Amino acid sequence: MKVRSSVFASFILILEGIGVALFLRGFFPVPLKSSISSKNKLSDLPVEPLTGSSPNSSRLPQPLFKRVVIMLVDALREDFVFGPNGRMYMPYTRHLVERGSSYSFVAKARPPTVTMPRIKALTTGTIPGFIDVVMNLNSPALLEDNLIWQAKAAGKRMVFYGDDTWVRLFPKHFMEHDGTTSFFVSDYTEVDNNVTRHLDSTLKRDDWDILILHYLGLDHIGHISGPHSSLIQPKLMEMDDILKKIHSALISKEAEGSLPYLLVLCGDHGMSETGSHGGSSEPEINTPLVLLSPAFKRK
Ligand SMILES: [Zn+2]
Repeated sequence: MKVRSSVFASFILILEGIGVALFLRGFFPVPLKSSISSKNKLSDLPVEPLTGSSPNSSRLPQPLFKRVVIMLVDALREDFVFGPNGRMYMPYTRHLVERGSSYSFVAKARPPTVTMPRIKALTTGTIPGFIDVVMNLNSPALLEDNLIWQAKAAGKRMVFYGDDTWVRLFPKHFMEHDGTTSFFVSDYTEVDNNVTRHLDSTLKRDDWDILILHYLGLDHIGHISGPHSSLIQPKLMEMDDILKKIHSALISKEAEGSLPYLLVLCGDHGMSETGSHGGSSEPEINTPLVLLSPAFKRK
């Protein structure tokens, strides 16, 4: 009887060991080593679905836009733009969503809804791992194939202002950058002013193709006082004004016969009812994605 129970106990122990190993393997997936050194080349491009040209075509598809501005507002929740308060919080954006030449979507952020894994997901198209949460504060350069690397390889000149996580992930990709740290969570003013102060001069210049802005103030307000705080509305109105400034500058730069601009407003993740993020609740994963361009049909 004694022997039997010890055999049973060791069987259970081994089973537990296998279970723990299986859990860890799933929770912290091993990065795909093969994709690290190999970035996709032109010959790997799939066939354009409409043109029906032969595969592995050596010609790049024609560009659709002349310049792209990506305005990422950290923790921008879907209802801050599309919800009933959106008209009050972001009137200009909301007007463009409803009446302008725009396309808008609710983008679902895959958990973990934390900034660094989300930037990785947005630029690589891969699902972030939970190990990335641990790496959030100490992010090394991104070696996987990604949009920023491809844009640089295609000769696009990129400018970045905002959360310095981007500068750490893409250390040599931007021709000009000014990173702000997300470390001082109590500051929600200077962290954004440091981005906005560049806009007037940069928007007038013609020496860049892609401008990326990452605003952190809204996320910090969420962490300090939650999504229903009185600080939310002024911050969103500030973001709305900035979008208006960028949009007007892009319109004034439009030249006859040249390709149109594209302005993208998005969030990296949402904000829970307590103002935090990281989990998989609806307000944390639902973010707005608004695309503005004269190339789109007016509503
Ligand atoms: Zn974030």
